Amino acid sequence: MIKSWADLDYQPTVARIVTNSLQRNRIAHAYLLDGMKGTGKKDVSYLFAKSLLCKDRNGVDPCQSCSNCKRIDSRNHPDVHVLEPDGNSIKKQQIQFLQEEFTKTGLESKRKIYIIEHADKMTTNAANSLLKFLEEPNQETFAFLLTENVHQMLNTIISRCQPLSFRALTSTRMVDKLVEEGFSLPLARTASHLTNSLEEAVELCRDDWFALARNLVIKLYEALFTRQQQALLFIQEKWMPHFQDRKQLEIGLDLMLFIYKDMLYAQVDKREEFVFADEKEQIEKFALQTTQQRVTEHLSYILQSKSRLASNVNPHLLMERLALNLQEGY
Ligand SMILES: [Zn+2]
Repeated sequence: MIKSWADLDYQPTVARIVTNSLQRNRIAHAYLLDGMKGTGKKDVSYLFAKSLLCKDRNGVDPCQSCSNCKRIDSRNHPDVHVLEPDGNSIKKQQIQFLQEEFTKTGLESKRKIYIIEHADKMTTNAANSLLKFLEEPNQETFAFLLTENVHQMLNTIISRCQPLSFRALTSTRMVDKLVEEGFSLPLARTASHLTNSLEEAVELCRDDWFALARNLVIKLYEALFTRQQQALLFIQEKWMPHFQDRKQLEIGLDLMLFIYKDMLYAQVDKREEFVFADEKEQIEKFALQTTQQRVTEHLSYILQSKSRLASNVNPHLLMERLALNLQEGY
């Protein structure tokens, strides 16, 4: 979680717009935060809420210790309301409830904030209700609409909000954040190559399945080079039970792709690009035993398998065929 606006260095444009408006005290009544999952939209809306309600603000940053900051952190500030989809959609009644809450007087401060997550999931009725709200903004009411699908939102709503566009995190930045969260560098690097979403990357790193998947990829890779007759047995006994559905198999093939790419990086002397940096010695050794042309062929076999996976082939046969292709010529 970000504690100050300076922490938002991975979203420089958003940080600049928000800190400028806080400095000049020119806050829009509604912001539309759009960007992929895990790009920091929720963090920004809560930090913004704290900057608006903090009793002891330090410049643009909230103090993090007053009762308002603390209650926003624990999600029970009476003037900060968060709306999420109820089932698959945000319904008109939810927006109406919000509007009623805001007309009540006697709450803690004059300022009121609402955060709507997955704002694109508003039903048409809900969106129309909200629109009235946005058209007649109360001086001290601020809205944060969060979405991963801005194209599914009504233009009439978009046009009444100040846009804050969140870009995908760079892979380096994501690795740094994952390591800050306490995950190992090899795991962080691998996850950051699989997704642009920090949230998804954290989920992967937390999942024992993923760490084991990574180990199995290393083992299969080694078997393909050193114990070829065992590779097929390995696929049957270890690989198939672990990579059970298509999504898991896809991750398995992606990881295979990464380890073969690492071999290419070893051959062209770009070792800083290694995903499987913890297997550096082994990869370099195998890279010496083959040629760039062979590795490129192997990469295309893996890519072909990935696309065949999408067309409902038997996964076991697919893996066996891939293993045979990867062994050719050794
Ligand atoms: Zn505070």
